[in-house]
Amino acid sequence: MKVTDLPPPPSLQEYRTIVGDEKIAALEELTDRLSGVAFQEINSTRSGGGVAEILNSYIPFLTALGLKTTWSVMEAEPAFFEVTKTLHNFLQGKDGFSPSMIETYWETLRKNDGLIDEESDVVTVHDPQPLGLIEFLARDELMRKRLIWRCHVQLETLSVDSVSEIGRLIRKLVEQYHASIFSSFQYLPLWHVPSFIVPPFIDPLSEKNRDLSETEITATLEKYGVDPDRPLITQVSRYDIFKDPVGVIQAFKHVRERESCRKKGCQLLLVGGRACDDPECFLVLRNVRQAAEEHPDIHILDLPPDSPREINALQRASQIIVQKSIKEGFGLTVSEGLWKGKPVVAGDVGGIPLQVKDGWNGYLVSTVQETADRIIYLLKNPDLAETMGSRGREFVRENFLLTRGVLDHLTVADQLVNGKITARGSVICYHPRVMTSDTVNGAEYL
Ligand code: UDP
Repeated sequence: MKVTDLPPPPSLQEYRTIVGDEKIAALEELTDRLSGVAFQEINSTRSGGGVAEILNSYIPFLTALGLKTTWSVMEAEPAFFEVTKTLHNFLQGKDGFSPSMIETYWETLRKNDGLIDEESDVVTVHDPQPLGLIEFLARDELMRKRLIWRCHVQLETLSVDSVSEIGRLIRKLVEQYHASIFSSFQYLPLWHVPSFIVPPFIDPLSEKNRDLSETEITATLEKYGVDPDRPLITQVSRYDIFKDPVGVIQAFKHVRERESCRKKGCQLLLVGGRACDDPECFLVLRNVRQAAEEHPDIHILDLPPDSPREINALQRASQIIVQKSIKEGFGLTVSEGLWKGKPVVAGDVGGIPLQVKDGWNGYLVSTVQETADRIIYLLKNPDLAETMGSRGREFVRENFLLTRGVLDHLTVADQLVNGKITARGSVICYHPRVMTSDTVNGAEYL
């Protein structure tokens, strides 16, 4: 199914004011090299989660540059999403995938045969759900096009390198692609496919991230019964076990026990919603409500997918953003929080350490206790929290905005289309720009 309800192409001029002339000029130069190339993005859901968030800005931006781009979403029944959620969990290291699920996977993939456009030249397939579409492509099409598998999952090496049937299948499918893209070098598998490291990005001009008036922020707090005069700690994420919302509640309870001034005690806000490809979220939400035990200062929101301005307002109203993930491909919510000038306390996993430099623009944590300790420290030291927040905003400006993401993706496309990658079957770990934990040391290539 083609996505047709996209935001209009934005004005490049507005981005120029945020990122400067140089970056826009680099984008225009790459666009010239790729003029006439037709791009297609394929994923499994129109809304909910980071991939949809990214594509919603990425496609209009490419259109604004003058590149031909389309977005196609798979059509699938709930049974397929049950399977792919189990697969997603398996790839992140949680057992539960059974070989019998593979047939359900292929049944849906067969129904989506034809989703790859005949006219497209560079096709990016996001995550494991549509991965198998490559099997239906005729050989001459596979030769003519360039196919990229874009992995947003924190791959657990043990899962993908194990002798399991599904591990072998995933690897076999990925190795048919011309290239793969991962968000972080930390979980790059040693597969025979040219691999690029491109961290995701946020759009500073989207409804989720653009500046808002104080009036709108206050009105949003009022709407959800949040006290504007007391500190607010917020985690925004799908209700998913790997985001550890129950751990966040436990940390908050520790904080409340240790807060000296009870009258002005802080509040916790869990902002989540349901991605239509995530059947587990109802169960997790139920556990979250149980853990909260109707605590009057724990606000649990279950928002519809079209709530970007409200999420924006709630992030801006917060003193601290938390993202206590225990597995995380990248964690757009971390960059979203940093961009809004907030210190971020986040799990030391996956792509999060790319964004949070411990003790500089936030804290990396591994346990409930550490999370509570860091929150208390930031609440007690508001000046430090503010300094960390402003460092975070500049760090995101430099590294995690849409303009950088598009530049990297077009660089990969340029490498594939204009023939710089010739050797199939070798791992090329190319690192288009900064972005690793070595970033700060200025490393350009891995
Ligand atoms: N998000 C949202 N509504 C929700 C929960 C999350 O719009 O109820 C957004 C969030 O602001 C972010 C994206 O979905 O832009 C989640 O991306 P992230 O990389 O943090 O996690 P993912 O869901 O892809 O694992």
